[in-house]
Amino acid sequence: MPHPTESLDEPIRTLLQGLTEEQRQAVLEGDGAALVIAGAGTGKTRVLTHRIAYLLAQGVPEDRILALTFTNKAADEMRSRIQDLLGWKPTLLFMGTFHSFAARILRQEAHLLGYTADFTIYDRDDQRTVLHRILKEQGLPKTAASWVTTIGWIKTGRRTPQDALEAEILDRYQQTLKANNAMDFDDLLLNLLTLFREYPDVHRRYAEQYQHILVDEYQDTNRIQFEILKFLSSVHGNLFVVGDEDQSIYGFRGADIRNVLEFQDAFPGARIFRLQQNFRSTQTILRAASEVIQNNQYRLGKTLWTQNPPGRPIRVFSFWDDEEEARGIAELLLNSDRPFRDFLILFRTNYQSRAFEEVFPRYGIPYEVVGTIRFYERKEIKDLIAYARFAVNPRDREAFLRIVNVPPRGLGSKAVQQIVHTAETEGWTYLEAMEHLLENGPRRLHRGLETLLRSIALLQSHHEDVEDGLRLLLEETRYLDYLAGEEPDPREETRRLHVEILLQTLADRKEREERPISLQEFVQEVALRAEVDDWAGPSQNKVTLMTVHTAKGLEFPVVIITGLEEGVFPHHSALTDPMELEEERRLLHVALTRAQEDVILTYAQRRALRSYRTLQPSRFLQEFPSEVLEGDLPDFDSEEPPSFKLGDRVYHPVFGEGYVTDVYEGKVEVRFRYGTRLLSLEYAKLKKI
Ligand code: ATP
Ligand code: MG
Repeated sequence: MPHPTESLDEPIRTLLQGLTEEQRQAVLEGDGAALVIAGAGTGKTRVLTHRIAYLLAQGVPEDRILALTFTNKAADEMRSRIQDLLGWKPTLLFMGTFHSFAARILRQEAHLLGYTADFTIYDRDDQRTVLHRILKEQGLPKTAASWVTTIGWIKTGRRTPQDALEAEILDRYQQTLKANNAMDFDDLLLNLLTLFREYPDVHRRYAEQYQHILVDEYQDTNRIQFEILKFLSSVHGNLFVVGDEDQSIYGFRGADIRNVLEFQDAFPGARIFRLQQNFRSTQTILRAASEVIQNNQYRLGKTLWTQNPPGRPIRVFSFWDDEEEARGIAELLLNSDRPFRDFLILFRTNYQSRAFEEVFPRYGIPYEVVGTIRFYERKEIKDLIAYARFAVNPRDREAFLRIVNVPPRGLGSKAVQQIVHTAETEGWTYLEAMEHLLENGPRRLHRGLETLLRSIALLQSHHEDVEDGLRLLLEETRYLDYLAGEEPDPREETRRLHVEILLQTLADRKEREERPISLQEFVQEVALRAEVDDWAGPSQNKVTLMTVHTAKGLEFPVVIITGLEEGVFPHHSALTDPMELEEERRLLHVALTRAQEDVILTYAQRRALRSYRTLQPSRFLQEFPSEVLEGDLPDFDSEEPPSFKLGDRVYHPVFGEGYVTDVYEGKVEVRFRYGTRLLSLEYAKLKKI
């Protein structure tokens, strides 16, 4: 019998080469909902990419396909892979994050929800500023950062307001954003859902347009995204999602594993595909990753195999403190035959990059920290962005307050009050209020208002080319002179450089895309960028450093996982919460499965966490099969494991108190408050009480 693919057209046949039979089935799956649930490195992203190429090759129009990825960088990579497969570049195909997709639709439909198409997207920093002011007005302690979290939880339905105060703050916060013609990240998704719920004709238009919807990293979607997917797929029903429940690491942002577990209930008749062959890692790495994750209870479970070679054991190094850890790793890099670009250094939290940033220059090791140097959070960059934002949306109060007197132009706090007051009482934009005051206000404000209005007009008149606009603005406002005057120190040079980098990036893109970047586009992209998006990838000969969260979906020949200590990895917030501990274990699983050939684990006895703290090695180190590890293995409690009998009351450092419900060879089953668990007597730190 001829193989089913033999009857296919040439381009499609080529496209299916380089796929295994199990991958091919998923790629060729017909209409309907489908979930590919499979382990790391089994080719999920590859399947998704090939399926899009396959749909396009079959003649599905580009603009009828919607591909949702976790970062914009991932979307760009996928697009160029598709171009390689097809020989032409799909430019109308929407590929991007949920948030950028939502922003795009909301720009079209904003008027229905009481915004204008020029609404601004507020990031965490903007949220904090808004909340800071609200708290101040209410005479409350200034804990804006924690309010940002609280408000996010309430808005996404993960908790209800605990008291009248929470309800009040939330209400004021929402009102402020609306008045500023601004949406935060949660609003983007929530407003899209509201739009679909309240405007059936609008919903139908989009659901009809998107004949195929494809989602990568599906395990990290939240409930709102899930609802959006239901709406979008309600006409054609072609929803194709790929994910791995063992790599769900965004629980703190609302990622909900029910989206995976209840997929077939939500989409009756959905097909489930499983891929079992791992193409990325050595047998040793795969075995280690599989065993570690088996300690989690909340998972579907899977078997993975690989044809890759066994590979070498995982090396473990112990160090005195974080600085020695960085030096030890530096020496390891220098003694290796591999180029620097083969290495990925991972850590649990951002601050851990500091030791490496201090040590590597001394050893002459070129490196790049992805995501911790927040370019777009620097003052000079934020100032320029605020100008652009205000020129696009003159109701954006945060942007207005940031630039009104920067550089100083005699518009002090009194003048600002007057402008704000005029705008608010008349219902005008800040721009309109300033124009009014220029005609009718006090003479002393005249010069300041006039220069600011001129600057904004300059940007607006160059709205089609933000690079030109910003260059003219810099000249007009003499912004760089102002920086020099404000900060007469070596940092000034760096600041000038940052401004130049920003403009150069825009110029480069203009050249690459053969078109100018508009003011509007610039403002939106800046707001929606993820840290990893700016990273060019490991092409230069540098060591790459990042957090485990950022490493999702990536692969490197050698992965060095640092800081394997209790309270660091697992993170201290997880030590008392079994669910969070499982998320930490998934994080470790993600870290391990980034590696192709080699994994190195390190831990230190002390670390500078505000002050120095003495640390115990991570419990996760006990969860590796001992034969895959070599090196400085910590000596975990070597006492004889205690014995238990049915009904014994016991205490576990993580799960708390419970009682023994069954006894096996080397294991006991214990019922805790949060559920029943099977624990190994050798490793679980179980005590009789
Ligand atoms: P993750 O869970 O980490 O996101 P994934 O399941 O998306 O992983 P991919 O990134 O698609 O996996 O694939 C992992 C690696 O294996 C990639 O380098 C990919 O090119 C390679 N690969 C996947 N399938 C095949 C195949 N059939 N033949 C050769 N290489 C493959
Ligand atoms: Mg992937």
